[in-house]
Amino acid sequence: MPLKRSLSQTLSVYSSEHFPWFKKQTSQHRHQVVVGVGGNIGDVKRRFEHLFFEIQRDRRVVLTQTSLILKNPPFGFSEQEDFLNTIIVIKTSMNAKVFLAFLMRLEKKFGRKRSFANAPRTLDLDIIFFDNLVMNTDKLTLPHPAWMERESVLIPLSGLHL
Ligand code: AMP
Repeated sequence: MPLKRSLSQTLSVYSSEHFPWFKKQTSQHRHQVVVGVGGNIGDVKRRFEHLFFEIQRDRRVVLTQTSLILKNPPFGFSEQEDFLNTIIVIKTSMNAKVFLAFLMRLEKKFGRKRSFANAPRTLDLDIIFFDNLVMNTDKLTLPHPAWMERESVLIPLSGLHL
């Protein structure tokens, strides 16, 4: 995977075939969703590329852009591999709750098993922003509660056209 830039001792930025990627799309979908994507088991970059095609095949969503890939150390439980993180932007007409269920099905499809908090994972998908919706329920907090504190979100986000 081509290294673009080492940002610090622990953070580096990479690109791959469809990360970053941008396409001017005309879409009838009502909502714009910013989705955080991460993983640290196996060939994560390859999984990101699979996810790219999987999302493009689904008529309920339109992918409009992807960010660079950030390699960064795990937080919480540190005895695990570094994470790769990226951000994708999707247009959809699903509401936020239905969209979260859609993401959870995708995580499952890509082999995610829930074990413990901050455990290693094949694919983690989080809603960072859903339009400018603000909500706080048992199942869903929007914007994502940690987005402002995480380099894994802030750095990829900084290169997007929103
Ligand atoms: P995680 O281990 O980070 O994948 O946590 C997933 C759980 O967080 C899900 O069961 C969601 O119900 C909950 N959750 C709350 N807010 C969000 C959000 N903005 N995006 C994704 N999951 C969320």
